[in-house]
Amino acid sequence: MELRIPGPTPCPPAVLEAMTKQMINHRGREFSQIFTEITARLKDFFQTKGDVLLLTGSGTGGLEAAVANCFSPGDKVLAVSNGAFGDRFAAITQVFGAQVQRLNFPWGAAVDPEGVRQALNENPDVKGVLVTHNETSTGITNDLQSISAVVKEFDKLLLVDAISSLGCVDLPMDAWGCDVVVNCSQKGWMIPPGLAMIGINERGWQAVSQAKMPRFYWDFNAAKQYAAKGQTPWTPAVSLCYALLAALEMMAQEGMPNIFARHARVGRTAREGVKSLGLTLFADEAYASNTVTAINAPTGVNGDDLRRLLEKEYQVVLAEGQGKLVGRIFRIGHLGWVSEENIQRVMEALAAALPQVGFTPTRVAASS
Ligand SMILES: *Cc1c(COP(=O)(O)O)cnc(C)c1O
Repeated sequence: MELRIPGPTPCPPAVLEAMTKQMINHRGREFSQIFTEITARLKDFFQTKGDVLLLTGSGTGGLEAAVANCFSPGDKVLAVSNGAFGDRFAAITQVFGAQVQRLNFPWGAAVDPEGVRQALNENPDVKGVLVTHNETSTGITNDLQSISAVVKEFDKLLLVDAISSLGCVDLPMDAWGCDVVVNCSQKGWMIPPGLAMIGINERGWQAVSQAKMPRFYWDFNAAKQYAAKGQTPWTPAVSLCYALLAALEMMAQEGMPNIFARHARVGRTAREGVKSLGLTLFADEAYASNTVTAINAPTGVNGDDLRRLLEKEYQVVLAEGQGKLVGRIFRIGHLGWVSEENIQRVMEALAAALPQVGFTPTRVAASS
């Protein structure tokens, strides 16, 4: 099966093998060595001298943790969104009692830093800004560096959902001035779902010290306190820690610049491939993501019918459209353990399947 969704992503054999190891004492020396090495290697990938916290939960848990640790009920928060995940970040913040000021951009377009500047001019009392680096629902990578520069002009706290970008595309957290950066395991790290990673700098910790939203399981202070001993406050997902260490070793061997270059190549292969079939991209190509590509379903074709056919007859699994895009688009995930060959295989399957749903591709399947 060719699993090409933007998470969970396929796991290399070395990662799967690492997870079969016997349990160990999570308060013992062996675990603390593993934990300490994971944390050090994660800091390299977050490109930070700050802290990286390891939490047990999915990405949404990481987003909730970031919100609950950084804000107090009643705080005004600017939530910038251009898709389903930006909306989710805003929704969490609202549920926890912040006063959420939304700044929405069209789905398929990028966030305009100038719009962020205007919103901050109009809302000088904002405590912090939420932004999604790579909007997985539409296949857009926002210009985080420029957005961050604007947020810093106003001296505001910046929380970033970098779940489908960090580890695959460049995100120098410190250099760009991102205060809290959220990530999770089942995307670029090539391991199963269940771990969230949070990068946090001095300014982030300052916010934590003032924040009054309720938190217990997600308490960053508890996580930091235990991390100093090479532990987590609560029982961690031990097997996923084995997996993460194995994956981080693979990633260190490949090297960050090579990983970024591979994702750039794979992203280009995906975009050129679908265009050569006569399909069109959903998102503004100037901001096209190198980790996920969203494709318009051809006129008269339901994207979900196409996906079902691809899975049943071609063993290729693609992702659905989310929210208002259900059936209208389909998405190819190309992050983590992925090569150009994987994407070529998807293109061959598409070339063969499209005529079966009534669309004639401009290029015919190589094997038929
Ligand atoms: C996958 C993803 C999430 C988190 O999803 P979970 O299912 O909770 O792991 C959040 N934001 C973005 C941008 C994502 O791609």
